[in-house]
Amino acid sequence: MPIYEYKCNNCGEDFSLIQSITRLSSDLKCPNCNSADIKKTISAFSCLFSGSSAKKTSDLSYSPSS
Ligand SMILES: [Zn+2]
Repeated sequence: MPIYEYKCNNCGEDFSLIQSITRLSSDLKCPNCNSADIKKTISAFSCLFSGSSAKKTSDLSYSPSS
């Protein structure tokens, strides 16, 4: 099961979560402040997620659709 690293945009907390394929991104919250305003910081893709071409990462990609 893959483990993803996240960073909270609200309080700056870094944390890791085990994310199953059935778990929706909307369920993810910061364990420190319970904010849903988080982003993936998994190292191999950090440069891609910071840009506008996240979809290039295929199954690991997550594009906020808010
Ligand atoms: Zn937080």
